[in-house]
Amino acid sequence: MLPNEVMEQAMQEFMDWNGTGMSVMEIGHRTNAFIDIAKHAEQSLRSLVSIPDDYHVLFLAGGATLQFSVAPMNLLRGRKSAGYIVTGIWSGKAQKIAEPYTEVKTICSSQATGYRSIPARESWQLDDDMAYCFYTENETVGGVEFQSVPDIDVPLVCDMTSSILSRPIDISKYGAIIAGAQKNVAPAGMTIVIVDKSLCEQVLPGTPDLLNYQLQAEHDCMLNTPPTFNWYMAGLMFDWIKNEGGLEVMAERNLRKSEGLYQLIDSSGFYSNEVDRSCRSRMNVVFYLPNEELTSLFIRQSEEAGLFALKGHKAAGGIRASLYNAMPSSGIDSLVSFMTEFELQHG
Ligand SMILES: *Cc1c(COP(=O)(O)O)cnc(C)c1O
Repeated sequence: MLPNEVMEQAMQEFMDWNGTGMSVMEIGHRTNAFIDIAKHAEQSLRSLVSIPDDYHVLFLAGGATLQFSVAPMNLLRGRKSAGYIVTGIWSGKAQKIAEPYTEVKTICSSQATGYRSIPARESWQLDDDMAYCFYTENETVGGVEFQSVPDIDVPLVCDMTSSILSRPIDISKYGAIIAGAQKNVAPAGMTIVIVDKSLCEQVLPGTPDLLNYQLQAEHDCMLNTPPTFNWYMAGLMFDWIKNEGGLEVMAERNLRKSEGLYQLIDSSGFYSNEVDRSCRSRMNVVFYLPNEELTSLFIRQSEEAGLFALKGHKAAGGIRASLYNAMPSSGIDSLVSFMTEFELQHG
């Protein structure tokens, strides 16, 4: 979901960006007009998150899954292994995809218990030879989210695809952040990478130039044609967040939105959520009804009531309410009313 204000601005500027007589979709990426758009977006993101100069900010073509390969290519720095914290489908996939590049180690995993918790810090297996520790801040499918940054000495590489800009980020705690744009920032097709410059000076031999963070940074992400329209839309979204009051305001809103839903779920004997309360997602609230029949009915009737995209991921089933930044609290109020009514009728 994108905020109406962002889409309205894009619509107003669609045919004529800033008096150029051209759409952003038509402007060449090497023109001054586009370079202004690109620089503005980067500056806006840097100020929103307080990203210091010793981090590259990259806007790259392709999705977050591509970065599951690209991150090891750039960040291994000749070390023997990389560690993965596995708390759901996405971190599991990231680990699998890294296997051709290095010895992949499991720092901890909640797979055996159905990805409903984050293993206790004392149980984590860490080694000195790990180049980095990869984790997924918010597991979008299972609805499991880290409430704080893991406390370890290995450089952290974080997949923030579904949680970036939903709360303040202490950049200094990360080696790299990767985030596909499509969940919380802009249309699909682009990934944002924020990376400590000192960690990407030694790429794996054979790394394609287009996947080389440092080379991309040296060329302002314009080694080839970047996803220009997505980059522009991301800039509008950053400005919108800033106008709304910044990341603290987003965090407050997202907490309030998710608490409203969890309260309803916890107080009902009809809906259920089995994620450990210490790591419930504020972005994707996953819950279940008593059976498949009621789940299908819930999805059908909620659509009729104007509530869309509630069907759970195919790997998890059930219902998933995504509460990204652009989702207004009135959307949650409507969902809560619908759920209350549905339970009265079928509970
Ligand atoms: C959606 C998602 C991805 C996959 O993104 P693609 O751009 O489709 O590759 C990766 N990680 C997380 C946490 C996601 O939510």
